[in-house]
Parts: sequence; structure tokens; C-alpha cells
Amino acid sequence: MPLLDTLGRPLGSLRLSVTDRCNLRCHYCMPEDEYLWLPREDVLSFEEIGQLADLFGEVGVGRVRLTGGEPLLRRDLPSLVAQLAARPWLRDLALTTNGVLLAHAAPELKHAGLHRVTVSLDTLRRDRFQRLTRMDALNAVLAGIDAVRSAGFPDLKLDTVVTRGDNDDEIVDLVEFAREMRAEVRFIEYMDVGGATSWRPDAVVSRQEILDCLSDHYGDLTPVDETSSAPAARYRLPDGTTVGIISSTTQPFCRTCDRARLTADGVLLLCLYAQHGTDLRRPLRAGASRETLLNLIRAVWKGRADRGAEERRAVRGRGAYIPLRLLKKDSHLEMHTRGG
Ligand code: SAM
Repeated sequence: MPLLDTLGRPLGSLRLSVTDRCNLRCHYCMPEDEYLWLPREDVLSFEEIGQLADLFGEVGVGRVRLTGGEPLLRRDLPSLVAQLAARPWLRDLALTTNGVLLAHAAPELKHAGLHRVTVSLDTLRRDRFQRLTRMDALNAVLAGIDAVRSAGFPDLKLDTVVTRGDNDDEIVDLVEFAREMRAEVRFIEYMDVGGATSWRPDAVVSRQEILDCLSDHYGDLTPVDETSSAPAARYRLPDGTTVGIISSTTQPFCRTCDRARLTADGVLLLCLYAQHGTDLRRPLRAGASRETLLNLIRAVWKGRADRGAEERRAVRGRGAYIPLRLLKKDSHLEMHTRGG
């Protein structure tokens, strides 16, 4: 029997953040000059991550996505991948990365058993990349994307957060680039999550605007008919190319969300907008039994009622969700700590 929450949503996938550190400073995620980092001693070891992941596997998780911060900053990530990939309960093991360190890492990750890679890529222009991320690293990311292809990963996705006046003129260029790379691009609406301290409604480029831009250029788009818990709605261009749109801001999909999130220090979060989580590190390190931890996870999921993005959509006069002064007190509220 799947584990269901109060809205009947099954627990199906786990986003595992392996570090809160990042080498980019994307304007919509880490725009500040200084951050409060998780204490190093709190960060879970690979063995602890494996122990907790197994518990999630036992209550129904079959898909795991490694994220961060920037997951490739975590030393020896391929050995965690190899450990997880050997778990019989795991059907799908994916990585979300900014791609800066991917050129070197891709072959080892493939060898370790990683199934899929998603690279975040917001622009194809070097000067713009530097302005939006505060690092001159576009060429490294492009080399990383090439390396994913050469390493033989069958599935590559490119995730683009579209923000007005920054990269909304590159929608078609990114579709063309993805096609060349045999990848699928997914356009993500700008979200007012913790960390997005400069978020404002008029900076959001909506799903409808993205669709209009695509159909103006390519002609009629056909929605791809699929029932899944994947966040992207997919569309087919007349030539068969598919494109995804993740409309978390204007048309949220909380009702089909099957994701749990575990921060690098072992806090279980149920929603990107959650203000509180459940610490699994403390009981794990205190020697709690498997059954105790399983019961805790089961109880948390069964009590889940959140519809964070839907509730945010209903707010009038919406601005940044978490004020900077609160982010400075609790880094768990940051998107880069909870993994996106
Ligand atoms: N460093 C990795 C990366 O860049 O993919 C993984 C972590 S990052 C937090 C995960 C995803 O969250 C990225 O695709 C990023 O673009 C997205 N993200 C961060 N802040 C966002 C925001 N305010 N709105 C929409 N997406 C956001």
C-alpha cells in the first residue's frame, strides 16, 4: 500500500541535497553577498545519507534526485552515486547541477550508475551568464553538457528559469540549442521561494507567455498527454521536438506533488515553501531504531497537508516570501539549502 498524505498524495520521490554550498550566485537564488552555511559537522556522511535513503525506499520512494547547493561540490559524489545506484528499491537516480564542474565528473558519474542528468542553464551568452551568476563559467557549463552526451547518458534535460528582461529573449535559442544537444529544455517560472529576495510579480514570465513565444515562432504546439507526477507540462513542436514548462508560480501542481526533500543536514521538508521541517539527523545519530525512524517518516508524510505554491498564488500584493532578516537566522529557509 502506498503511503498517502491527507490529500491522497503518495510519497514517490526524494530530493537529496548533498551540500548547501554553491559556486554560482544566481540572481534569483543567491543574490546576497554573504550566507549562513550549515555547520560542517551537521552535514550527513554518505553512510548516513544511505541509511536514511533506505528508509524512504521502504515507504515507497523509487526515484531520487541529487541536488544542492551545487551537488558536484560535494567531494567524491560518484561514490555516493555508486552506493545509491546499487539499491534494489531505486528505479531512477538523477542529478541536478549547474554544470560548472560537469565536464570532469560526467564519465565517472555514468560509470558509478547515475541514470539521468539535468543541467540548469539560463542563457547561452557569456557576458549575460556572468552577470546573472557572478561567474564567467558558460564555457565550462557547455563543456559539461557535451561531456554528458559523450558519456552516454540517455536522458539530458536543460532547466531554464525565465526572468523578464534577463533571458526571456532566449527562449527560442535555448530550444534550438537543446535540440542540437538531443536534450529537452524545460522553462521554469520564477518562484518567490526563500532566497529569491528580489522576486516581484512582474519579473515572472508566465507559462502562457512562454507558450505564446514558442507558437509565434514554431506554429501550433500540441500538449503531450501524460499522467505523471513530473512537474513539467510537456508540449510538442510541429517537428516533434518536445519542450517542458514548469509553471510553479501561475499554475502550481501541488495536487500531484509526490516529493519529499532532505537537506544536507538531514532535515525532512515536504514543500519548497515549508517553514519548518523534521530533523532526522538527531534521532539517527542518537541511535534511534530503524522502526522508530520509519514511523517518524510515515507520520510526517501521513500528516502532510501543504499546498505551498497554490497558497502563495492566492496571496495579494505578493513579494519575496521570506524576508532577508529571517533567511539570515535560518539557512533552512533558503532554496539553496532545500535543493529546488
Ligand atoms: N546547483 C544545482 C543547479 O543549479 O541545478 C542544484 C540546486 S538549484 C537550487 C536547483 C534548481 O532550482 C535550479 O534549476 C535553479 O534554477 C532553480 N531555482 C532556484 N531558485 C529559483 C527560483 N527563485 N525560481 C525558480 N527556480 C529556481
